[in-house]
Amino acid sequence: MDETVWAIVVHGGAKTIQPDTAEAHRRGCAIAAEAGAEILRRGGSAIDAALRAVRILEDDPTFNAGQGSVKNAAGETEMDAAIMDGKTLAIGAVAAARRLANPIEAAAALLEAPAILLVGEGADRFGYNIGLRCIDPASLPASPVQSPGHDTVGCVAIDRAGHIAAATSTGGLEGTLPGRVGDAPLPGCGFYADDRIGGVSLSGEGEAIARCLLGSRVMRAMENEPADEAVTVIFEPMDRLAAEAGVIAIDAAGRIGIAHNSDHFALACASSACPGVISAIHQNELKVSEPDD
Ligand code: ASP
Repeated sequence: MDETVWAIVVHGGAKTIQPDTAEAHRRGCAIAAEAGAEILRRGGSAIDAALRAVRILEDDPTFNAGQGSVKNAAGETEMDAAIMDGKTLAIGAVAAARRLANPIEAAAALLEAPAILLVGEGADRFGYNIGLRCIDPASLPASPVQSPGHDTVGCVAIDRAGHIAAATSTGGLEGTLPGRVGDAPLPGCGFYADDRIGGVSLSGEGEAIARCLLGSRVMRAMENEPADEAVTVIFEPMDRLAAEAGVIAIDAAGRIGIAHNSDHFALACASSACPGVISAIHQNELKVSEPDD
């Protein structure tokens, strides 16, 4: 791995973005990507960069994650989050958490634990016990400000040592059954990272993404193709299931790939080839860069 190469890409959900929130989506993604890029530029780790970027997106009420999350059919917020270290294949994930202010922090803490996924009260209790900020679910805003549709945030990063991390966090889909868990905390569905191949983070209709292991399909394609070609494998299975999805990816050479069949996909990226952050609400707005451009 060339030690000058680093890259980060973040997403703020595959969905329809109303014109009056387009700028908030671009700005929110740009701020998160810049915070992660700043870590990578000075030689920090991909895990730290992805964690920082996703925590910022969780804290931004524009996005359906963390405290900005939508309500389920019982009027409750349930959040899923996951992070993966492509160096060790360590995974940390939480699902249907209700009290964690930043579910991605609990997921990151689990990278060091034997368990890879904690759900519901177990996830909340784990976060509380290690001193993470917890909130009263009843104190969350009754009417989230996000655009209608589905939504998730995520990040994939590669650091100068060639280590890759992927992170995904979501409030899930609005109005679903209490206890419903989508693709976001499931490896090979909403996220995956392996230094030998690359990393992915997805958004979209979680049940459809899980049914066809969409993240895993992109990973498999990246074994033989650069990220920008590999991501196109999402279209056929999503057509078959008549579902919407978006994916961000970085391959082991630091190339970025983005694909979505949703109207919009909030995005931002930066890399050693293109160090300034560029953000967009559609893949066509971005010029995806090569590390040695
Ligand atoms: N994939 C998420 C879920 O199904 C939602 C989304 O990305 O819009 O929970």
